Amino acid sequence: MGTKAREIVGVNVDELLKMLKRAYADEWLAYYQYWIGSKVAVGRMRGIIAGELEEHANEELKHAGMLTNRIIILGGTPLISPQELIKESGCGYEAPSDPDTKKLVEQNIKGEHCAIMTYKKILDFINGKDAVTCKIVLEILEEEITHEQDLEAILADMTTPVK
Ligand code: FE
Ligand code: FE
Ligand code: MG
Repeated sequence: MGTKAREIVGVNVDELLKMLKRAYADEWLAYYQYWIGSKVAVGRMRGIIAGELEEHANEELKHAGMLTNRIIILGGTPLISPQELIKESGCGYEAPSDPDTKKLVEQNIKGEHCAIMTYKKILDFINGKDAVTCKIVLEILEEEITHEQDLEAILADMTTPVK
């Protein structure tokens, strides 16, 4: 555990750890939602959408890794069971029970909206008092914003009438 690393954080570390752990749970659930969605997808633009979902899945898993590393350095314990992931998640999990590609895209846009708000809240909480966490969270937030953009662009393509 990083003794000095913890010391230089200018906010309540336990509060910060709670937020990071909630985001960590979200990332794993987002990973699984994207990953299984990419497998079951059927319907319009399936190839493109399955590829995009798989790409996002990999990035969510990378985010989970970035958060775990920070949680451990700050002296926290990452969640160690799938049950905890569900219990501690802020954004929750939406099973792709309808595998229609448009439904999947809409579900995942909802997830990205929640993720963007989660990271914005963490950044507001840190508010210049923990540059290291700020850098990590900002990098994740930038990717969530790109995910939202990619999916909203796909949805726009899907809903443009064919001439
Ligand atoms: Fe993510
Ligand atoms: Fe994302
Ligand atoms: Mg993308």
